[in-house]
Amino acid sequence: MKSHAKVVVIGGGVVGCSVLFHLARHGWTDVVLLERDELTSGSTWHAAGGMHTINGDPNVAKLQKYTINLYKEIEELSGQATGVHLTGGVLLAATEARLDWLRGVVAKGRYLGIELEEISPKEAAELMPLLDPKQFVGAVRNKEDGHLDPSGVTHAYAKAARKLGAEVERFTKVEDIVRRADGMWRVITNKGEVVAEHVVNAGGLWAREVGRMVGLELPVLAMEHMYLITEDMPEVAAWNAKTGTEIIHAVDFDGELYLRQERGGMLMGTYEKANKPWSEFQTPWNFGHELLAPDIDRIAPSLEVGFRHFPAFQNTGIKQIINGPFTFAPDGNPLVGPVRGLPGFWVACGVMAGFSQGGGVGLALSNWMIEGDPGADIWAMDVARYGDWATMAYTNAKVRENYSKRFSIRFPNEELPAGRPLKTTPVYDLLSAKGAQWGVAYGLEVPLWYAPEGVKDEFSWRRSSDFTQVAREVATVRDGVGLSEISSFAKYKVTGEGAAAWLDRMLACKLPKPGRMTLAPMLKEDGKLIGDFTLANLDSEGWFLAGSGIAEQYHMRWFEKHLREDGSVRIEALGAKLTGLSVAGPKARDVLAKATRADVSNAAVPFMAIGRMDIGMAPCLVGRVSYTGDLGYEIWVAPEYQRAAFQALMAAGEEFGIGLFGSRALNALRLEKNYGSWAREYRPIYGPLEAGLDRFVAYGKDADFIGKAAALAERKQGGKLRLRAFIVDADDADVIGDEPIWFDGAVRGWVTSGGYAHHSKKSVALGYVPKEIADESDGFEIELLGKRHAARMQAAPLFDANFERMRA
Ligand SMILES: Cc1cc2nc3c(=O)[nH]c(=O)nc-3n(C[C@H](O)[C@H](O)[C@H](O)COP(=O)(O)OP(=O)(O)OC[C@H]3O[C@@H](n4cnc5c(N)ncnc54)[C@H](O)[C@@H]3O)c2cc1C
Repeated sequence: MKSHAKVVVIGGGVVGCSVLFHLARHGWTDVVLLERDELTSGSTWHAAGGMHTINGDPNVAKLQKYTINLYKEIEELSGQATGVHLTGGVLLAATEARLDWLRGVVAKGRYLGIELEEISPKEAAELMPLLDPKQFVGAVRNKEDGHLDPSGVTHAYAKAARKLGAEVERFTKVEDIVRRADGMWRVITNKGEVVAEHVVNAGGLWAREVGRMVGLELPVLAMEHMYLITEDMPEVAAWNAKTGTEIIHAVDFDGELYLRQERGGMLMGTYEKANKPWSEFQTPWNFGHELLAPDIDRIAPSLEVGFRHFPAFQNTGIKQIINGPFTFAPDGNPLVGPVRGLPGFWVACGVMAGFSQGGGVGLALSNWMIEGDPGADIWAMDVARYGDWATMAYTNAKVRENYSKRFSIRFPNEELPAGRPLKTTPVYDLLSAKGAQWGVAYGLEVPLWYAPEGVKDEFSWRRSSDFTQVAREVATVRDGVGLSEISSFAKYKVTGEGAAAWLDRMLACKLPKPGRMTLAPMLKEDGKLIGDFTLANLDSEGWFLAGSGIAEQYHMRWFEKHLREDGSVRIEALGAKLTGLSVAGPKARDVLAKATRADVSNAAVPFMAIGRMDIGMAPCLVGRVSYTGDLGYEIWVAPEYQRAAFQALMAAGEEFGIGLFGSRALNALRLEKNYGSWAREYRPIYGPLEAGLDRFVAYGKDADFIGKAAALAERKQGGKLRLRAFIVDADDADVIGDEPIWFDGAVRGWVTSGGYAHHSKKSVALGYVPKEIADESDGFEIELLGKRHAARMQAAPLFDANFERMRA
């Protein structure tokens, strides 16, 4: 074994081998993979080997498509068969709600280049002869489904990597990992030590244990998973003989089942409701090529449905039941990327669909390590989407919920209850008493809307029980004054003598003067967005940044990567140490004036001013800005004062008819201002010109901000895309995001978010289209639940296009 390597990859499952292959293919050949046993000794060897392109997140779906297309290449490179059978498959819907969901999947496929087609149950039965068409209301055909040999694929990656110069050391167990003072990693094994610049934790079932070696508690948990293999079935033999083809894959979402042919019989797997975690606290090191005891009672309810939906199963025997563990992150997507605070330590774990995602994970991670950027939008699988709040108990609750809902419909207005409430602010019970219906962002409870007694969310693809109430909350703001809780924003304090110069380099905007705020896009070296903030200059107190709450860890990782070594800049994520309230609407100033003794006139506190004042008895930082696009204030207050500030504002607001509004109303309000938001409109694949944030970029400022050259080039060349707002001729449903935008009969763009703008009484969609058609006003259509709706470009904001209200 070599004593030094650029990279040590820990784990010889499908994921580790893919990472090794991709590193070598990108030219890093001084790389070694350490496997404690034979390759595939974790969850990989007993996988059912299914692969598919669909995923709830379109960017992950793209990487799944990449993975499936890669198998041919690694087979050729390695000379190792992967056993890929691209049979195609059918996705089945037994209810109308499921069919609506599948139509959304078909629509997404159109701009992802995934060929999906809605078909009738009868047509599905013609493709997959074992299903009973009477049990289904519709189906979708996917030509890119299939299955493969898990061991063959893993060895193909490893052999291809070796051919490119990488090394694989089997029977080499990593026992400890220690960071040296010079930043290099000592990887200590049962066979000696390797010193490496980078370490990749691809430990699969043991990823948690490998993480603990460096003091990291990763939010992953293994679950038991069962599939059965039947005896040979005459129906299968007859079909094979008649068509010369295998029986295609099927996913029966309502039965929570997946099926495929296995030799002369069938394989049926299920995500049962009565699921069971495995080795909740510690994965035993002596676990290897063994299976867990099957528990047929646990999967009996799913099998019952399966035998009804696929009647031929009633006449066959079960040859074998496989029960094996594999790992999940709380939301079911992988955990990939560099770990904040551990330079050179990377993770590629929690990969629950290694044969659909392993290639994409390897590609993104190797890009990231070598180029400094994953090269794709991988937010949905970035390890930084979790923080310390994702504790072991939280992870346990969430993974179990996610497993049991793996094939369930998740409606756009559905909030999942497990692991909640976890983080709450001091006004939580006050807002609950007013009917707050809660959602969650980065572990923190967030009020979505306020329900009258006896009303709650009815989950639906269409406008639902909250519609009238959200309309009322919007009217409260636009016609008078509303109050909302905004603690879920991420808040940062930047101090030190080097702070101004550092911010000037980190952010693309011009720095505001003392007492003023500005919108602050943050770019990567390639000129694409990596953040959008409100930056405030608090003069002698330093600088204050507010940004997307879900991206706190993501942004802190970026900030810390770029911090100066001389200690002249300090940045702190304030998290729940600072809570927030916002008052907005034409009467917002009247309310504030009554709640404080400070002068809040337009002259004293103009638009984008910020300063300290007491609200009631509570000391607050008040900035005149509002995401509602109305006259409004964001009020930042220490948690111990939040109740007092809230009560003072509510009391002051009584005479002005103040009412509470939640984030759904805020969405309706910001849409009619064409305001984008992080992780929707603003993502690391769009440039500021494309995203319409170029007016906040100080292209001409002296500071050489990160991404400046690329942003200037984008401005010169014009970029490729444009973010636009559309008014959709919708009936009873609004876009939620990821719907295709048609122009002139072809899919040309995609929706990033949208909803109903209650004040303007319009259904609004925001989305990206190619710049060549970005100034057309007509000819657009947006596909919603399987139907194309006419859409008109809305260039100027629907509300207050001249900013009179905001600046009043
Ligand atoms: C019953 C079942 C059916 C499945 N069906 C499918 C399917 O149809 N399609 C699909 O895509 N996925 C399926 N999966 C999931 C799939 O198996 C996983 O996504 C995949 O195996 C994850 O691979 P991995 O490399 O991350 O982890 P693992 O396979 O667990 O690999 C981790 C490796 O790291 C090694 N290791 C750990 N710690 C150390 C250490 N300290 N030193 C050295 N080596 C170490 C282990 O020995 C192991 O070989 C199924 C899983 C199960 C259990």
